[in-house]
Amino acid sequence: MISEFAQKVMILCGKHFCSVTSWVRTPRRNAAVSGHPESVHQLGLAVDLVPDFDTPGKYAEIARDARRLGLVAQVESDHVHVQAIPPMIVVDNG
Ligand SMILES: [Zn+2]
Repeated sequence: MISEFAQKVMILCGKHFCSVTSWVRTPRRNAAVSGHPESVHQLGLAVDLVPDFDTPGKYAEIARDARRLGLVAQVESDHVHVQAIPPMIVVDNG
């Protein structure tokens, strides 16, 4: 799962001249950057991307391409958060 995700990230970085500013996080680091407690950065299944050339609409373009690759993408104020769809989320309502 991680290798397939990394391959897709490489495609996005190559096309959009992006750098990865955050990838794998420990729970401690995740808390320090106010990440969601269940963030998949902690599983290595999310990256934050920053393009070299921040032209208008660039973040949205990256997010669109990420979604075309089957990833989840969220445009943030200073990066694009891209993640694999978590393999399984079990919600225990009991
Ligand atoms: Zn992120």
